[in-house]
Amino acid sequence: MIKRKIIVGNWKMNPRTVKEAGKLFGEVAKGVSRVKKTDIVICAPFIFLEELAEIRTSKVKLGAQDAFPGDTGAFTGEVSADMLYELGVRYVILGHSERRAFGESNNDVNKKIKSALAYGLWPILCVGESDRDHNHGYFSLVKMQLEKCLAGISKNSVGKIIIAYEPVWAISTTPDRRDATADDSREMTIFIRKILSDKFGKNAGSMRILYGGSVNEKDASEFLENGGVDGLLAGKSSLNAKKFLEIINTAEHIF
Ligand code: PEP
Repeated sequence: MIKRKIIVGNWKMNPRTVKEAGKLFGEVAKGVSRVKKTDIVICAPFIFLEELAEIRTSKVKLGAQDAFPGDTGAFTGEVSADMLYELGVRYVILGHSERRAFGESNNDVNKKIKSALAYGLWPILCVGESDRDHNHGYFSLVKMQLEKCLAGISKNSVGKIIIAYEPVWAISTTPDRRDATADDSREMTIFIRKILSDKFGKNAGSMRILYGGSVNEKDASEFLENGGVDGLLAGKSSLNAKKFLEIINTAEHIF
């Protein structure tokens, strides 16, 4: 099955002002007018989404970095998938390692995925180990994350779920980080595809898998060509329009 490639930017808690956010988003939107084969998503902080929804184009979709699992109501400080959809947001990163570090469990992520799907958002589910041990225990950890986060999801909705494999040890802000290789990515994505196909049968074939962890404009082609993935999730590199556009153009021209 031919799947569209997808490049996702995770701005995390950046930039500082709405003006800077608008400028960065505008530069990316302007630079992708010729892109046809690649889906582009920018996941921005909640407070910028309304402004960015005004300047988004059909080519650059808006994403959030979390969504509360439930309807509007008495949940101080939370933002629901329903509210995000109404604003024009179409994707949401869920289960990012930086949120798991605050105590978010696989069970929480599972509820958020179900709610996101119910309100029409495409969940980008992040999985990945904090470190690699010699006994290869990281495979069991990723398996458990997938099984728990995707528990009870119907086969018919899986085409809208995107999996992002993000080894935490390779993320740009991890202390003493190490580079992951395309081989590391390919080995894990083969494993992830096997789990997904055991769980969802042929429907799993439509699910896209991304690699994330310090991807930049120089190694994007290596991950896209040899990492077994359908796209990339970029954090730090997505905060620089020129670098992010180079990653998008690499994806557009690679296959
Ligand atoms: C991330 O944390 O989602 C990420 C991809 O970050 P970076 O590219 O900065 O490692």
